[in-house]
Amino acid sequence: MMKNLLTILSVILFLSCSKPQEYKIPVYGWLGGPGTSTDQELKDQFTDLKNKGIDGLMYNGGQDPETYQRVGKIAKEAGLEFHTWIPTMNQVNPKLKPEWYAVNGKGESAFDKPAYVSYYKFLCPNREEVYQFLAEMYGAIAEVPEVDAIHLDYIRFPDVILGKGLWDKYGLVMDREFPEYDYCYCDKCVDDFKEKSGIDIKSVEDPSQIQEWKQFRYDLITNIVNRLAKVVHEKGKLINAAVFPGPNSVAKKTTRQEWDKWELDAVFPMNYNDFYLEGPEWVGDVTKEGVTALTASGNKIPLYSGLFICPNPENKTQENDPENHGLIPGEIETAIRVSMENGAAGICLFTPGRMTEAGWAEFDKAIRKEYSVLP
Ligand SMILES: [Zn+2]
Repeated sequence: MMKNLLTILSVILFLSCSKPQEYKIPVYGWLGGPGTSTDQELKDQFTDLKNKGIDGLMYNGGQDPETYQRVGKIAKEAGLEFHTWIPTMNQVNPKLKPEWYAVNGKGESAFDKPAYVSYYKFLCPNREEVYQFLAEMYGAIAEVPEVDAIHLDYIRFPDVILGKGLWDKYGLVMDREFPEYDYCYCDKCVDDFKEKSGIDIKSVEDPSQIQEWKQFRYDLITNIVNRLAKVVHEKGKLINAAVFPGPNSVAKKTTRQEWDKWELDAVFPMNYNDFYLEGPEWVGDVTKEGVTALTASGNKIPLYSGLFICPNPENKTQENDPENHGLIPGEIETAIRVSMENGAAGICLFTPGRMTEAGWAEFDKAIRKEYSVLP
C-alpha cells in the first residue's frame, strides 16, 4: 500500500515538475525517398526532423502502396504525420495511352513534345480514362493504414506563363500566352467547349481573351480534384494539394488552378518568392490573398505556406538557376512571420534537406513564437 502511494506521489511530482509543452507552429516538409535507405536510416532521419520541429511529411516515394506502408510505419513511429506526395497530371505509365495526353495550341502533344523540359508529360484532365487511372492509383495508396493523407502535386495544366525568375533560364519573355505552352486543345476539349459555349476555340485568334475558355479549364481541374477528394474521403483519409500562389495573382493565370474552389482538407501554396523575383515579405502578401480567397469562397480550410529554401546560401548571388535560389537563413524568420501574421495555419519547407545549420537555428526561433493575425 505504502509502496503504491509513493509511486503515485512520485508520478504526480514528476508531472508537476516536467516542463509544459512549448508552443510551436505546425510545420510540414516535402521529402523524397526512400531510395536505398534502410529502416534504421529512415528512423534516424525522421527522428531528427521531428526533433527539429517538423510535424508531418509530404513524402514522395513513387506509386507503390508497399513503399508507403513501409516508410509510413517508420514515420508514424517517429511521431510524424504521413502524407503521400504524388504528382497528378504529370504522368508516365504504360497504362496511359498517348491520346490521353494534353495537346497545346499548336496541336503538339505533351506525350511526345512536352513543353520546357522532357518530364512535362501532362495528361488531359478532360478524359474519363485519366480520372479512372488517378482514382485507382490514389485509392490504392489511401487504403494503406499508415497513410494519413494524399498530397496532390502537378494538379494543373503546364505553365502557360512561367514565373519571372525562370524566364532567363529558358530564354523566354512570357509577357503573354503563347500557343506552344497553352493547353488543352485536344479534340475532346475543343468539342466539349464548343458544345458548352458555342465558341470554336481553334478559330479564335487570341484564345487568352476568352474568359469562358479560361473558366472551362479551371473547371476541368477543379472537377478532377473534387472527384479524387471523394475517392480519398471514402477511404477515411484526408486529401490536400501543393498549389501555385494566389489563386488570382499567379495560380489561375499560369496553371489554371482555381484552388479556392477545391474541396480539399488543406492547401499548400508554393509561395516561392525567388521564382517571382520577390523578397520574403511577398510571402505574406500571397498568404493573405489565399486566405482571403478561401474565406470568400466559403471554403474554410487551412492554408500552409510553402517556403523554398536556398541550399547554398553563400553562393546565392552567383547562382543563375532559380532552382538553387530560395530563402537564406536571414530571410527565414521573415517568411515564417509574414505567413503566420497573414493567416497561414503553419508552414511547409521545400525542403528540410536544403536547410543549413544557420537556417535551422533561425527556423527554431521563428516557429516557437506566437503570432497574431494582422487585420
Ligand atoms: Zn484535352
